[in-house]
Formats: sequence, C-alpha cells, structure tokens
Amino acid sequence: MPLYSHSRLSTFEQCNLKFKFKYVDKVETEAEEGVEAFLGKKVHESLEKLYSDLKFEKLSTLKELLAFFKEEWKKNWNENIIIVREHITEENYFNMGERFIIDYYNRYKPFDQSRVIGTELAVKIKLDGEGKDYKLIGYIDRLDFREGGVYEIHDYKTNANLPVQQYLDEDRQLALYAMAVKQMYPDAKKVKLVWHFLAFDKEMSSERTEEELEALKWETVQLIEQIESEKEYKPTVSKLCDWCQFRPICPMWKHLYKIEDKPANEYLKDSGVQLVNAYAKLTAKKKRIVDELEEEMEKLKEALIKFAAKEEVSVVFGSEAKVSVKVYDTIHFPPKEEQEELIKLLKKHDKWEEVSALDTYALAKIVKEAKWPKTLLEKLKEFEEIEKTERLYLGKIKKEED
Ligand code: SF4
Repeated sequence: MPLYSHSRLSTFEQCNLKFKFKYVDKVETEAEEGVEAFLGKKVHESLEKLYSDLKFEKLSTLKELLAFFKEEWKKNWNENIIIVREHITEENYFNMGERFIIDYYNRYKPFDQSRVIGTELAVKIKLDGEGKDYKLIGYIDRLDFREGGVYEIHDYKTNANLPVQQYLDEDRQLALYAMAVKQMYPDAKKVKLVWHFLAFDKEMSSERTEEELEALKWETVQLIEQIESEKEYKPTVSKLCDWCQFRPICPMWKHLYKIEDKPANEYLKDSGVQLVNAYAKLTAKKKRIVDELEEEMEKLKEALIKFAAKEEVSVVFGSEAKVSVKVYDTIHFPPKEEQEELIKLLKKHDKWEEVSALDTYALAKIVKEAKWPKTLLEKLKEFEEIEKTERLYLGKIKKEED
C-alpha cells in the first residue's frame, strides 16, 4: 500500500501527469531545486536548530543563529539551484532569509511561549476508506503543548504571499496533522494550527471542529481513491509549470524545447512558430479593429439616444434600416455569495422551485475534477454527452524563454 502525504496529494491536484512522472514512473531528473525551496529549507533548519538547542537549555544568540544560516547557505549553494524570477539574485534571497530569522527571533525571544514536543516531527495519519485503509505521513515543523491539553502545530512559511484567513481555515495540510495529533495524544482537548508567515513577520492561526476533521477525512479518502483508479494522467498547464522538474519531458512543452536552441534564421522557419506568429498578429489586428468599431458605435449610440429624446421619437429611420430606442429599467439582485436571505424568502413563499435552476457548468466542473463519490459519478454518466471542443488560447512567453 503506497504511503500518501500532503505533497503527494497536492501534486495530483496540481497536475495528474506530474504525479505520474514523479510517483508512478519515478522519473529521475537532474537534481535541480528552486531557490524558494532552498531558502525555505535553510530557514527551517535554522529555526529547528534554535528549538533543538533549547531542549538542552541552550539559547542561541541571534548572532549564532545567523552564522549557522550563513554557513549552511554557503556550504549547500550550488549551480543546480534555479532562480526563475528575473533580476533577483542569490544575494537577494540570502538577505530575505536573514531578515526572516531576525524578525522571528526578535518577536519570540526567549521562546518560552509553550513547551516544545518536537521539531521536524514525523507523524502518521490513519484514514479508513470503504473496505481499504490508507496511511498518510507528514512532518510537523514544530509541535508544542500548553497547560489544559492544548497542542499547537507550528508551520513556518517563507513564501512571498500572505493568504487570507479563509484559506487557512480550509488548509488541508495542518488539519491532517491535527488528526494525527489527536490520534497520538488522546488528552488533546484542543489542537491549534499556527502559521508563521516569516516574510510578513506575522502569525496566523486556525482550528478545526470534530465535524470538519471528519469531513476532511472523507474528502481525503475520496481523493486517494481517485488517485488509485486514475488511468489517463492528463497534464494541467499552469504558472506552476515554470517550477516543474518534468517540463523538459512534458508533451505540453515539447515544441518549446524543440525550437529553443535553434538560431533565429532556423527558428523562424519552423511551421509552428510561423503559425503562432501569424495567429498572434491577426488576433492583435482583430482586437484593434473591434476596439475602434466599438468606440465608434458607442458614439453613434449616444448621438441616437440624444436625437430620439430631442425629437421625442422612439424609432429613428435611415435609408434601409431603422433603430428603435427603448428606455427601460433593469432589475438586479445580489450576487450568488449574498443571496442567503433572498433564497430563504423565496423558499418561505414556495417560489424557489420556479426560479432555481441546475448549474450545469458547476456540475460539469465537478464531474471533470471527479470531486464527488465514484458511485454518484458513475450514475451521472447516463446524463452526460461528451463534445470535443477545440479552442486556441494565445498567451505571452516570458522574456527569458525567447
Ligand atoms: S510541466 Fe506542467 S503540465 Fe507538464 S507535467 Fe509539469 S506541471 Fe504538468
């Protein structure tokens, strides 16, 4: 039975093909690493050292900790570490790491907020599926406890985005670890999930109810069962492809690698390049013409409305066509996320059925992403009609890929 992890599940959600390359085919790639991952690792190691030493009553000074960070950085930096962002250097990333540690140290010194159980703690989560049980493994950056059966799962984040609270309230990774803590420590009355967003010197937290953890368990089992029955492993192109180690062997990027190293005179002879260039040119031309026409039509529309009002007529005649000018009120109701009260009212008056409709777009999306139980997805197949759609999406190539 394969051992799952949050990152295994996330890889599948990000791109089924990437999951296949990594976990099914176990494709070996050149040991490249993104600078963000390297920075995260070095900061994590520094904070781990800080708390491990504290267990032995040794409080490192900030100077010692920064020296450790610097030494580890210099010792491990190598040419396989990729910096995707242009104009940002190794030094910039190193300085970021130093700042994260300084801010963290000054905020929490003398680090006696709670008692540390462990750092980089490996935990296993048992999930019972229908007729089959699954196991997940995870690593908690730091697990603490306080008086009264309160456990805290701490997670250090070095990324440059500060999420909104709702995102953390729906986060899967730490919620899965909360399940593990509850399984490991039955005296846990409360498990607090704590994130340290080091780039913002900010601590954020969340908690889960028993019901939420049960729902998460069910969703995770569904996802694992979907992974286990996956046959197609379709690729999903996204911004994250820039950080994907399988891009050089991915069929979605094959053409780029074919033309990448060719000189301009040969590169421009490639029929694919010629077709895209012609398509991009026509698309830009179309946009320009449409914009001009729309601007002109808007002016004419305004003039016609003014004319009709001035002449007190509602139909204006041309030589071969006429324009009816109608003035009416449009009724608007609140958007979907603010409809709760409105729906309640309509239901109360037995009118909901008359105006509610099945959201077939949302349904098709759920089916495509196989988000519901397999048995239900199978039954829905009776109602599905598959139509092949061919669509072109024109996008920009990043400078460094030119
Ligand atoms: S490059 Fe993109 S589409 Fe290809 S495997 Fe990686 S993530 Fe998937």
